[in-house]
Amino acid sequence: MKFRGFKLKLIFSYVFLILVSFGFIAFFHSLILGLFFALGVAFILGSLVAARTIKPINRMIQVSRKFSEGDFSRRIIQSSKDEVGELAVALNEMAQDIENKIRKIKAQNQELAAIFNSMIEGVMLIDKSGRIVSVNPTIEKIFGSPKRDLEGKIFLETIRNNDIAEVIDTVLAKGKPVSTEITLIYPLRKVFEVNATPIFENEVISGCLVVIHDITEIRRLETVRRDFVANVSHELKTPLTSIKGFVETLLEGALDDKKNNRDFLKIIQDHAERLNSLVNDLLALSQLESKEAPLEIKDVNLQREAEEVILGFDSQLKKKNVEIENTLAHDISVKADKERIKQVFTNLIDNAIKFNKKDGRVKIYAEEINGKLKISVEDFGIGIPEKDIPRIFERFYRVDKARSRQLGGTGLGLSIVKHIIELHGGNVGVESAEGLGSKLWFLLPK
Ligand code: ADP
Repeated sequence: MKFRGFKLKLIFSYVFLILVSFGFIAFFHSLILGLFFALGVAFILGSLVAARTIKPINRMIQVSRKFSEGDFSRRIIQSSKDEVGELAVALNEMAQDIENKIRKIKAQNQELAAIFNSMIEGVMLIDKSGRIVSVNPTIEKIFGSPKRDLEGKIFLETIRNNDIAEVIDTVLAKGKPVSTEITLIYPLRKVFEVNATPIFENEVISGCLVVIHDITEIRRLETVRRDFVANVSHELKTPLTSIKGFVETLLEGALDDKKNNRDFLKIIQDHAERLNSLVNDLLALSQLESKEAPLEIKDVNLQREAEEVILGFDSQLKKKNVEIENTLAHDISVKADKERIKQVFTNLIDNAIKFNKKDGRVKIYAEEINGKLKISVEDFGIGIPEKDIPRIFERFYRVDKARSRQLGGTGLGLSIVKHIIELHGGNVGVESAEGLGSKLWFLLPK
């Protein structure tokens, strides 16, 4: 009985154990299932979250990379109102802002480049080691070297001008502006004013800016003016000294010298006439230059004006037995200032007679060249030496001073001619051979 009871207990225990095991198995099974379910849900939720946050961030990274490459035309598309959306808006605004600033800087740079390139002054930027950083086209012209041969080179290696190199060295060493005048011999003889200013970066010299101003023309005009004053004084002084001398001689007793007193007076008269023509020519020149009396433009018959001028020279022509042939057509006319054209003919015909040979000949004729009228006054007189030809239109320039004075010349006749013709938009010229004669011509628009 005891044994049966024990068996029963054992059976129960087994059944209980089996039941408990089943229970456990069932419990773990549902636990694992639940775990997988939870993992699945977590994965789906994670993917959704990733799709909503990581993707836009990746997009932002891509667009930001474009920004860093300098392409600000892209924008981040993000419609969400969360932090990511706000970041996208901030990035877009920043890109827009940078794009606007870059556009503005580009426009300013273009303006500066246009100014730099069109400046009549030569501008050169030098770094602190004395190397040329950039030059404008005027510098290329001044030194006769293209940009590519200058930029990036040490100044003295490419532009062998010690004066400018010294200026640059001083500015870089002392950090103070320097201004000086230099004369360049090559490629052209020129006078320049050089201004060099230091450039500072955080109060340390980082280079210098050299501005070169061509003052050749200013210096030339100063010389011309100085020479002109000296010439005028000299020209006035000579007849005045003579007049004074002869008046003194007369006063000291020569007045009663019946043999010579008239000769002395004649000399005084000649000098007074010279002074008169000199003052008249100077007045004519100053009037032409000051433009005080503007041109009175109307139809001018050149043949008639030339003929009238020739008539005025009748006595000189007879004295030298010079013949003038006026071949200008009767209807030849230009739009010009009549009195001034008459002055041109007067000065040219006067010279053609003065510098002619005895029994000489003068020919006046017209040609049409490229729609312009060329009037020539040709003589077969003494001619002009080749070396003097380029200078005869200069004020007071005379091949033979004494001869010109003796003939009553002032040395201003041709410069007056040049001035008048240029005021009419034309130009003048000369062809001559010493001993054979000269042809002085002027071109006028028809
Ligand atoms: P000038 O009062 O001496 O004539 P111009 O200015 O008219 O002054 O001329 C300047 C110089 O040019 C003259 O002195 C002369 O040497 C030379 N010249 C001008 N015209 C002629 C010419 N037809 N033949 C020779 N030489 C001339």
